[in-house]
Amino acid sequence: MRCGMCVGQCPTYKLFQLNEETPRARIRTIEKILAGGETVSASELVHLNSCLLCRACETACPSRMAYGSLFDNAQAVLSEGRRRTILAASAFKLIESKLLRRALITLITLYIRSGLQSLVRRSGLLKMLNLVEADGISRLPSLSGMADRYPAKKKTLGKVALFTGCLTEPFDRETLNAATDLLNAIGYDVLIPKGQTCCGAIHQHNGKQQSVPDFIRRNREAFAALDIDAVVFIATGCGAMLDEYPQDDEPGVEFHERLFDVDDFLLQHWPDRLRLKSCYLKVAVHEPCSQRNVLKNQKSVYALLQKIPGIDVQPLSGSDVCCGAGGAYMLTHPENAARLRDMKLQAIASAAPDVVVSANFGCALYLNSAESSPTVKVIHPLKLLADCL
Ligand code: SF4
Ligand code: SF4
Repeated sequence: MRCGMCVGQCPTYKLFQLNEETPRARIRTIEKILAGGETVSASELVHLNSCLLCRACETACPSRMAYGSLFDNAQAVLSEGRRRTILAASAFKLIESKLLRRALITLITLYIRSGLQSLVRRSGLLKMLNLVEADGISRLPSLSGMADRYPAKKKTLGKVALFTGCLTEPFDRETLNAATDLLNAIGYDVLIPKGQTCCGAIHQHNGKQQSVPDFIRRNREAFAALDIDAVVFIATGCGAMLDEYPQDDEPGVEFHERLFDVDDFLLQHWPDRLRLKSCYLKVAVHEPCSQRNVLKNQKSVYALLQKIPGIDVQPLSGSDVCCGAGGAYMLTHPENAARLRDMKLQAIASAAPDVVVSANFGCALYLNSAESSPTVKVIHPLKLLADCL
């Protein structure tokens, strides 16, 4: 319809105030790419690729335009016959291979523990290799694997399997532990199936859609084999991808029927007997785009945090605007991403909360990595809840 209702929702339009940086202009470029026959200029491609894929435009569109899949399909066409940079090709390989991920985890651990990181940071090498942002978000990984099963604390009411994907287990163990503790506390055994793999989101959104059916098959098989009540995810970025796995056959429908965001599952199964300790913190909620614009279940976070007596929970102002993390966007478009993050950091500074919560690991990682980051840390809401058990 080209009505323009999506324009004001777009973070890149907020940054640049340019028609080329609007969803509407990008859709015209996508139309050219998908229909073929018309030349797409280099400038049109630059503006298309500066999209964060936050999908805020979808929520504003009266025509229910499916921007996410249009963008993915255009990227798939553009990537045909295109040579990838070594960095991009290695990132895909890392996500695909457990063995390579293990090697990376060992390397990161050595890099940080040996003191090499501080040396390299001072040397200027990171700037030369264009790796400043990647270094900024690097964290000491957890080296031990998770157990196959975590039994409920008291009487077992059921069983759930936790989706750990590709990077959560080594890099966000704190949240996985919190999820396990909470699920055990409400009476559920937690299983961690080893056959699961990455959700496939990075491949889906970056022109490598041909690899996605394999991720889907492996994940469906890993969970279908289990006698469980639910498949539970903790990161909304992965959850948004899992939620959009095709449902055009029985395995697809079954997988979807058992899929839950951990916040929703906890809320639905929270027993009256379970009381949390009081906590008088002022908490600001950052709503990740994957949660707000795709899963649309951001209210669950507020409801769940209300289980903590004494807590003061408020939305962070500007919650409808992306923080800049945007999957790999923080690495591919560091300047745009940093400007959006600065806006978020200003909102945090004016709200002056004791803590900020975000249900997406990528947002928390990116907000916490800012050099100018306030002393207020961004954590997963589950961490706060588990601390009050
Ligand atoms: S994408 Fe939707 S909201 Fe945006 S211009 Fe087109 S019809 Fe309007
Ligand atoms: S996905 Fe986000 S950044 Fe991309 S066009 Fe839509 S609103 Fe703008």
